[in-house]
Amino acid sequence: MYARKAFITGNWKLNPQTKDEAIELATGIASAVTDDSPCDVALFVPFPYIESVQETVGDKVIIGAEATTPQINGAFTGGVSPVMLKSIGCTWALAGHSERRVIFKESDEEINEQCKMLIEHDMNVVLCIGETLEEFEKELVGAVCEIQLKKGLAGIDKKDLDKVTIAYEPVWAIGTGKVATPEIAQSVHETIRGILKGMYGEKIADSTRILYGGSVSPESVDGLVAKPDIDGALVGGASLNAEGFGRIINHES
Ligand code: PEP
Repeated sequence: MYARKAFITGNWKLNPQTKDEAIELATGIASAVTDDSPCDVALFVPFPYIESVQETVGDKVIIGAEATTPQINGAFTGGVSPVMLKSIGCTWALAGHSERRVIFKESDEEINEQCKMLIEHDMNVVLCIGETLEEFEKELVGAVCEIQLKKGLAGIDKKDLDKVTIAYEPVWAIGTGKVATPEIAQSVHETIRGILKGMYGEKIADSTRILYGGSVSPESVDGLVAKPDIDGALVGGASLNAEGFGRIINHES
């Protein structure tokens, strides 16, 4: 089996409230990353903080954008394109976070455009997928993940899959304190890897990192990442506390 290095990522969402607080938080998080840390670390932060936070963390932590606009220029007020991000040295972004799907009404097709545009500009994307509570209760998890994966990655070539990380984030677990059990998460991750295998073959499925997201905490991280198909975490609320996120970064491995 391909050895996948663990990947712990934070999503700050609409936090913190000022640049100074962002720098303070980033300083604390960066100080938790040492040569002994068992993983790569990334933070997805609000656009206005990207450059200052990048300067603060140096090469210890990857800094990415929480969203992108697939168009490159023109009449798209409020948009931020991959080219703009790349011009400030930012080469990572999230796509398809459930808050973007639900609140900002981003469709699978738009999310696919974002993924393709990031890759076209030689950037990396964390594609977030996951079912709602209703879909979970109707046992539609595999079907929902398959649709979101296939639509999100449509037209993306095998050779570019090294720029793609998948985050499985059950919507019912995001920000609710209801973390999926390691067993449930492992079973979905295994399904996702199987879907990737059908799409891109075994080698790519084996080398693609699949993160779990949804109320991950310093207490729950060890059990989750101990599972064979869970390669790390996308962490929202708990990434706003440097000490707690430091514990998640330096999880048992
Ligand atoms: C997220 O924002 O992607 C997330 C998983 O949030 P939380 O960890 O707060 O559930």
